[in-house]
Amino acid sequence: MRSRPVVTIDGPSGAGKTTVSKMLAEKAGFVRIDTGSMYRACALAARRAGIPWSDADRLGELARRMELSFRDAAGAAGVYLACEDVTADIRTPEMSMGASDVSAHLPVREALVAKQREMARDGGVVLEGRDTGTVVFPDAEAKFFLDAAAAVRALRRYREWAPGKGQPFERVLKEVLRRDVQDCTREHSPLKMAEGAVYIDSTILSVEEVVGIMMKSVRGAAR
Ligand code: C5P
Repeated sequence: MRSRPVVTIDGPSGAGKTTVSKMLAEKAGFVRIDTGSMYRACALAARRAGIPWSDADRLGELARRMELSFRDAAGAAGVYLACEDVTADIRTPEMSMGASDVSAHLPVREALVAKQREMARDGGVVLEGRDTGTVVFPDAEAKFFLDAAAAVRALRRYREWAPGKGQPFERVLKEVLRRDVQDCTREHSPLKMAEGAVYIDSTILSVEEVVGIMMKSVRGAAR
């Protein structure tokens, strides 16, 4: 039995999960776990080890052994692979597609889901990803599915880069749509709304409005 709630936020790329989960975790005094960054770190580790993103068994082994942490020795937040700060390296467009590729393999999912369950075991946690409410914690006390129109999601991704530094908008939109199809149609843990989840369309809502809706459910769950 958990003494504090587990909150899950699933949804497609660019729906606002990262911004919203950060604010929600801060308001609720919970820890945030960005499960997507774990699949990204696996894609990066594989690239460095020369393991193809199609090799399910070797990727599964890598995901199990990977020394991943979200704090360095001094307590600074980030994504660390064997103590190396890879926070920026995992956020490139190439690693976005790589994460989507490696996350389709069952051995990888099993290894990372086990780590996620262990990290969130005692509750007081916000998990964000694609399967956190359907597979990782189907018994979570509060579940959300955050969505937005594809063009708006692509625009948000496009604006994450300084002018002239990222890809052209049309390319970003194409990749967002490609990742949607890949994540929603894969055999293992496809992206879908969890049973009992609250659906929120963030197309025309501010971050504060979305977090306000979520806080009401989380407070209810914490009672
Ligand atoms: O959320 P983010 O864009 O960082 O996720 C990168 C990729 O990792 C997603 O496109 C998806 O394929 C995969 N992922 C997943 N399950 C999760 C989180 C992310 O399959 N819980």
